Amino acid sequence: MPLSLFDHRKLRHYRELHAVSGPFDHWFGGRISDFGIRFVNVDDVPLHLLYSLDLVDPSVPVEIPGVTRLPLLYGFRCMSVDTTFIYRALNDTEVELIDPTLFSDDADIPYAGYPRHFPASPISFCRERYDPTVAEDALALQGIFGLDGLSGSEMARAIQIAFSEKRYDGSVYEYAHVERPKASEYANWTDEQVLRHFGCAPFIQDAPSGSCANPDCPAEVIGHVGPTEVVLDDTAPSEPMAKQAAAMGLDINAMMVEYFGTNRLIIEAHDIRAYTMRVIAVHQPDADDELIWNDPYNQIVFQVCEACHCICATQQCD
Ligand SMILES: [Zn+2]
Repeated sequence: MPLSLFDHRKLRHYRELHAVSGPFDHWFGGRISDFGIRFVNVDDVPLHLLYSLDLVDPSVPVEIPGVTRLPLLYGFRCMSVDTTFIYRALNDTEVELIDPTLFSDDADIPYAGYPRHFPASPISFCRERYDPTVAEDALALQGIFGLDGLSGSEMARAIQIAFSEKRYDGSVYEYAHVERPKASEYANWTDEQVLRHFGCAPFIQDAPSGSCANPDCPAEVIGHVGPTEVVLDDTAPSEPMAKQAAAMGLDINAMMVEYFGTNRLIIEAHDIRAYTMRVIAVHQPDADDELIWNDPYNQIVFQVCEACHCICATQQCD
């Protein structure tokens, strides 16, 4: 815990109050079956219910036709092969999994003896300070809401703050520092261009893609990526997986070869679509919270597509 919610229309930020009941019916954890959720296209899915959100609450910035409760799901025990999960809530109980539809179930990822579900607890949300015209606030959520609310003088202050060495404020949301890259192609960029391009707080690694990955999404196709061959035992795992695997003493490459039954995978060609994905929530544990990752510098980013209403959950870590 905690979860942050982001309202893109009103430019508001809400933060979870863990184990604090409020006027709305929000929950952390619990068994998926306790909420009556079933998957319409896949059996026996080892996903975790991270949150069940009451969409009646105006603090929850999501509108999906026919849905009043939204499950935030993630495959913590499936991460040896996938760290991105895409699904769609069809109504308050039925969920369609879009990608992946095949799952690993690794009992010792992210840590040994990982729980099959988290203990259920009621939660509520409180509004956090955020003023898009103030440099510090805009920088802290640049990757969510951008910097367009800043005046010329506040942008100048934002540049001074972002390029300074005073990057750590002691919280886990502290990634607003920006450095000018040494490559010659950036030599003529202004400080504002560098800040706008490379600033991505609160994200640990980078702002997530705005293009929907649901192959059936009706959003306009604006580009195309050809097929790519991947040799599994010659491929470095993603940084998050490499860290988790090193901590567990696991050989991720060997696990992937065993799981897929082959050493060569073809990543299918896919389309790039108009940017319809909006970050609705980011989960990052408190510094003393060991339950989810045993490490506070891990984020799960939840996006919703405005065109097909799918939810995309991705992971980032330091
Ligand atoms: Zn979509």
